[in-house]
This record gives sequence, structure tokens and C-alpha cells, in this order.
Amino acid sequence: MAQERPVVGRFAPSPSGRMHLGNAFSALIAWLAVRSAGGEMVLRQEDLDPQRCKREYADQIEEDYRWLGLDWDRGGSAGGDAYYQSNRDDIYAEALETLRQNHLIYPCFCSRADIRAASAPQEGDRFTVYPGTCHRLIANDPQRVKQRLANGDRHSLRIATTDTTIAFHDEVFGNQRYNLVQDIGDTIVRRSDGIYSYQLAVTVDDLDMGITDIVRGRDLLRSSALQIYIRTALISAGFQPSEPAEATISYAHLPLIDNAAGQRLAKRERSLDLGILTAHGVTAQQIIGYCAWLLGLQGNHEHAEPQPMSAAEALGEFSWDAVRANTSDRVLDQAEFNAYFGL
Ligand code: GLU
Repeated sequence: MAQERPVVGRFAPSPSGRMHLGNAFSALIAWLAVRSAGGEMVLRQEDLDPQRCKREYADQIEEDYRWLGLDWDRGGSAGGDAYYQSNRDDIYAEALETLRQNHLIYPCFCSRADIRAASAPQEGDRFTVYPGTCHRLIANDPQRVKQRLANGDRHSLRIATTDTTIAFHDEVFGNQRYNLVQDIGDTIVRRSDGIYSYQLAVTVDDLDMGITDIVRGRDLLRSSALQIYIRTALISAGFQPSEPAEATISYAHLPLIDNAAGQRLAKRERSLDLGILTAHGVTAQQIIGYCAWLLGLQGNHEHAEPQPMSAAEALGEFSWDAVRANTSDRVLDQAEFNAYFGL
């Protein structure tokens, strides 16, 4: 990561359930990246979707985060600077208006996928390239669009992409290139029920909160290209962030953790959530040690066994080289896992 400027990183959980081992893994690496660079840690609750997210889960995540030995400097529910996306509609509306004035936003009357658009992509990266139906409608029949809007027809809002390639360097996965039209497409920025989408909110927040370094799962690699596009559009349209912000952000995407059946760990897998693990007497050091071991911070010998360690000890072992040494998704071996945690 860039060392010349102060690093501002973030942990951005979606409070839709109790933290599980995969979330602890993401939380740890985001924290290590910031603390090893002497940076500032922001905690942002991504609770846009009222169907899935609850305040009690957000509180529990903060409690679990502290219990793991991790800390943050800005955001969360601490002090007067809480960051809940559900409280930030005004700023998303302002950003959307900035983009609209630059002719980058259009209404879409298509119904599919609207519902899921405000959620962070969680399993697979869930991108379906929008075929551009409503973009063509505007070009070919603007009267019809006006009429449908005047009728109050349900519609989402999409950002129009251009036929350009977004290239960026990822600290773990190396150089990336995505063509906006072919690989991403016009993406929903506000759902038809009025909820801002994950892609818009996260881009606005990362810009507005002065985030310099993003560390997250590799399922969001493609989203990064879209977020770079939206960020650049916002900056060139004159959007004013609350914190000083640079034009570009550094990215590090991490391998995912799969269960023995090859599926990415999800919150519905209660067996790995911190509530269940702690009820079995599992300690924070055991969890941190296991995550550090998954990250390659406990020596990369083929048969090295995980050892409990504190977050501070993991910080002493942290290096990007160790993380980069193995970019394959990790598969949990249930028997080994049970033996280590004494389950
Ligand atoms: N809130 C997202 C999640 O929990 C993370 C989004 C991000 O890091 O950009 O999956």
C-alpha cells in the first residue's frame, strides 16, 4: 500500500446477522492493513437494506469486533460520528443529483434484479450485465419515457457506462482490467423502492469519508472497476467530499473462505457464527489465530497448524508478501477446524 500519504481504511460490515468466521477474517485483514501502516480505521455499518439489516446486529458486530481485540477511530456507533448508511440518504441524493446533471443517470422501467441491487454482492459477484433496454428507450422514444414518468410508473435509476476500460492495480491479485460496457454494464444506483444501491452508497461513502485503502473479498474485484468509474465521475462533476480525498484509492482483494462443500461462508451458516463458537468456549485468540493462519501469517509451511494469537501478535507477523503468497480461496476442513477449536 502507498506509504507516502496517511492511510485511511475501513471495515464495512452489513449488519444482517451475527459475525461469522469469514467476517472475522475480513475484519482482521482490514485492521492489520490499517494498523501496520499507522493509519486511521473507519467503521461503517452498511445497513441500507431495511429487510435484512437490524440495529441489534450492528451493535453486536461492534461488540464482537472489540472482543476480537480490534478497534477503530471513526464511525460505528461511538461518539457523535456514527456511520450508518441508513442515515445517509441526503448525501446519496446529492451525489445522484450531481451525476444526473452530468447526464449519467436514466430511469429504468425493467423490473428484474431491482430488489437485490441494494445488497452487497455476497455469493459469487452476482453481476448481470444490463442489456440497455431503457437506455435505448430514451434515445429512441424520449416522449414515451416522459409519459411513463408522468404516469408514476415504477422505475429504478441506472448509471450509464461508457465503452472504456478501467485498469487498476490490486495489491494481492495484481493488474486488473474491466471494460465497463462488456463486463459491467449500466448498473442500478437507486432501486425502484427508493433505496440507494450498494454500488452508489459505497462509492459515495469511500469518497466522502476520505478512505484511501480498500481491503475486502475478491468477489468485489469487478465492483471496484465500477466504483472507480462512479468515483471519477463524481470528482470530475465537482462533488465535494466531507474529508479530503484523492482521485484514486488503493485496493487489496482477498481470497474467499469456502466451506468443505466449496460454498462461500455465508451468515446463514450459523455453525460458524461467533455466538455459537463462543458458546462452545472458543476464545478470541483462537479465532484470530485461525484467521491469521488462513492469511498465511503463521508461516506458510504446507502442514503448519494454526496457533492461537492475539490481534496485536498478528500485527507483528503481518506483511503483504505473506498474504500475496497464496491467492487461492481457502477451504475449511471441518475435521481440522473442529479439532483446533475443540468442538
Ligand atoms: N458491506 C459489504 C459486505 O459486508 C462490504 C462492502 C465493501 O467492502 O465494499 O459484504
